[in-house]
Amino acid sequence: MLKHNFSAGPCILPKEVFQEASNSILNFNNLNLSLIEISHRSEDFVQVMDEAISLTKELLNIPENYSVLFLQGGASLEFLMVAINLMKKNGKAVYLDTGTWSSKAIREAELFGKTVIIASSKEKNYNYIPKKYIIPKDANYFHCTSNNTVFGTQIKDFPKSPISLVCDMSSDIFSRNIDISQFDLIYAGAQKNLGPAGATLVIVKKDILGKTGRMIPTMLDYRTHINKNSMFNTPPVFSVYVSMLTLRWLKKNGGINWVQTRNHQKANLLYKTIDSNSLFTGTVNREDRSTMNVTFLLNEPKLEEKFNSMWEKSGINGLKGHRSVGGYRASMYNAMNIDSVQVLVDVMNELEKKA
Ligand SMILES: *Cc1c(COP(=O)(O)O)cnc(C)c1O
Repeated sequence: MLKHNFSAGPCILPKEVFQEASNSILNFNNLNLSLIEISHRSEDFVQVMDEAISLTKELLNIPENYSVLFLQGGASLEFLMVAINLMKKNGKAVYLDTGTWSSKAIREAELFGKTVIIASSKEKNYNYIPKKYIIPKDANYFHCTSNNTVFGTQIKDFPKSPISLVCDMSSDIFSRNIDISQFDLIYAGAQKNLGPAGATLVIVKKDILGKTGRMIPTMLDYRTHINKNSMFNTPPVFSVYVSMLTLRWLKKNGGINWVQTRNHQKANLLYKTIDSNSLFTGTVNREDRSTMNVTFLLNEPKLEEKFNSMWEKSGINGLKGHRSVGGYRASMYNAMNIDSVQVLVDVMNELEKKA
C-alpha cells in the first residue's frame, strides 16, 4: 500500500533517489564495487563530494567567500562547534530561544563563555517567534533556528544583525529562497531535507574563522575541514552521495523556486483545512507558521481514536505530535507530493462529516 510519510525526521526522499542509491550499493558507477567499499580518495568518490558541494553552491547561490562542508556529528555537534569556533576568549554570544533545538544549542554555548538569551517564546510553549529585540554589537555572534521542527514555527524575516548571524537550518534548508550573504554561518543535519542521517551541511564565511584566541581540537576546527575539502578523515560517503542525488533531483525539477512554490501549496492546503474544519486548531501564531512542520490539535479528545484509525488506514505514517506539544504534526519536507497532503486533508474532512 502506498505510504504517506509525514515523519519529522529522518524524512522521505524522492523515490528515484532511493532507487539510484540502492543501485549504487550493489554496483557504483559500473565499477562492480559498492559505493560504500570504494576508497573515499578515489576519483569516483572525490567527484561525488565535489558535485555535492558545487550543487549546494549553485542551488543556494552561495557567494565566493563562503565554504561548503559536509561534516559528521549532526546539527547537535554544530551547537558546540559554532561556539568553539566563533566565541572569543572572554567573549559573548547571543541566542534566540525558540524551542527544543535552540535550547540545546544554548546549553553548549554556555560551556564556552557568556551566553545571553536575547528573547524567548518559552512562556507560551514556543508557539510564536519573538520579533522585537535588539542584537547587541558587542557580542561575537547571534544564533537563531530558522524552523522549529518540534513546535511548528518558522522565521519568515531574518533580523538585520550587526554581528555574525548564525543559523540552524536543519529542517528547512533548501526549502525556500534565502539570501546567504545575510548569514556568516549556516548548518543543517542532512536528514530532514537533504539525505540520510550521517552528514551535516555547513556553509561558512571564511574570514570569520581563526579569531577566538582559543585552542580548538583538530576535528572541531572548521578550518581543518575547509583545508581538506571535507576529506580530513573518512567522510560519511553514503549520506553525502544520497544528498548529492537529492540535489540533482532538486536542480532538474527547477531548483529552489520550484520547491518553494510546491512547499507553499502543500502548507496552504493543510492550514486552510485546519482553519476551516471545526474539529481542528492550529497550535502556533498564524504569521509564524512553518511550511515544513504543521502542528495542530484535535479539539475533542474523544475523537482521537477514530481519527487515528482513519489516517492509519489511509496509509499515513508519522503524524503523532511531539510529546512537548501533543496533538499532531505533519512534516512535509521537499520530497513530499501534494497528493499525500490531499489524503490527509480528505481524512480530516471526512472525520468532520462523520462527527
Ligand atoms: C533535527 C534537528 C536537529 C538535530 O539534528 P541532529 O542531526 O540529529 O543532531 C537540530 N536542529 C533542528 C532545527 C532540527 O530539526
